[in-house]
Amino acid sequence: MDANILIVEDDTAVRDAMHEFLQMSGYVSYIASNAEDALTMIDTHPIDVVITDIMLTGMNGLELTDRIKKNHDIDVIVMTGYSGDYSYEEAISKGASDFVFKPVRFEELLLRLRRVLKERRLTQEKAHMLERLKRLSITDGLTNLYNSRYFYSQLKGEVERSNRYNHSLSLLLLDIDNFKKYNDSYGHLEGDKVLVRLGKVIKSCLRAMDSAYRYGGEEFTVILPETEGAEAATVAERIRAAVEALEFEPIEGDLVKITISVGVTEYVRGEDVTVFVQRADKAMYKSKDKGRNQVSCIFPSNKST
Ligand code: GH3
Ligand code: MG
Ligand code: MG
Ligand code: MG
Repeated sequence: MDANILIVEDDTAVRDAMHEFLQMSGYVSYIASNAEDALTMIDTHPIDVVITDIMLTGMNGLELTDRIKKNHDIDVIVMTGYSGDYSYEEAISKGASDFVFKPVRFEELLLRLRRVLKERRLTQEKAHMLERLKRLSITDGLTNLYNSRYFYSQLKGEVERSNRYNHSLSLLLLDIDNFKKYNDSYGHLEGDKVLVRLGKVIKSCLRAMDSAYRYGGEEFTVILPETEGAEAATVAERIRAAVEALEFEPIEGDLVKITISVGVTEYVRGEDVTVFVQRADKAMYKSKDKGRNQVSCIFPSNKST
């Protein structure tokens, strides 16, 4: 098993014997003779488990355990020869994963170490799984952009921030022009390729704080925090032009262009999220009405372009 173990023990003979035993058992083993050295070691090596004596010169093993558990994702097994002085409860309450009495029987230590490592692996797998699930739950599977559920939750957060700090906030809504025709002509799979590429292009046009979402089938949204309408319109135009510059080849030798219609709007303090989104939608439809492949704005002051 691939695990890095640090032994903290001031008795040289015990330390060396344990070190050798762990190496023979297939672990990568490190040693320290006091808590201070152990902490330095932890900062510079990828340690999974620390096995520490309680009685050490300087900082004792319980304090060390406390320090490790507060700052690192490392399991600690505590060893003590004074079963009366330190209780099992005390070690566990500092965050120790297990407790062994000295003189340590190596076979027992090995069993406990294996159990700790197994639990550690399960915990890590669970954390990864949750992380993955969380990512999946906010991601659109086709384009890898965020999905519409996440759009609404993020927009709600940004609207609250905008209201609290009186920051400006803008929103883009983008819709592919005549996409049904593209699908009808070249097939749904070719249409999907367009969506994937558009997702990438939209992202490439954004600044670090902006975020892009697949809002619906062939519709995208972009949230632009701390951005006024005019600046948002510039971003929208940049995306529109980048999309127009693309060439698709749904049939070999057949280069096809795609365009998008974009609506831009700015948040009006106090208004409902849905009203804000509806206005972006309305602005997008203005672009459709005016002949598609363009950017239209509806700004709060009712001054529209
Ligand atoms: P308009 O310029 O008015 O927006 O025309 P349009 O054809 O794009 O609009 P309409 O709303 O009539 O059709 C949208 C089309 O988008 C319908 C469907 O074929 C296509 N579409 C929606 N979701 C997907 C998808 O996930 N994959 C593919 N390939 N096509 C999709
Ligand atoms: Mg649409
Ligand atoms: Mg449509
Ligand atoms: Mg469309």
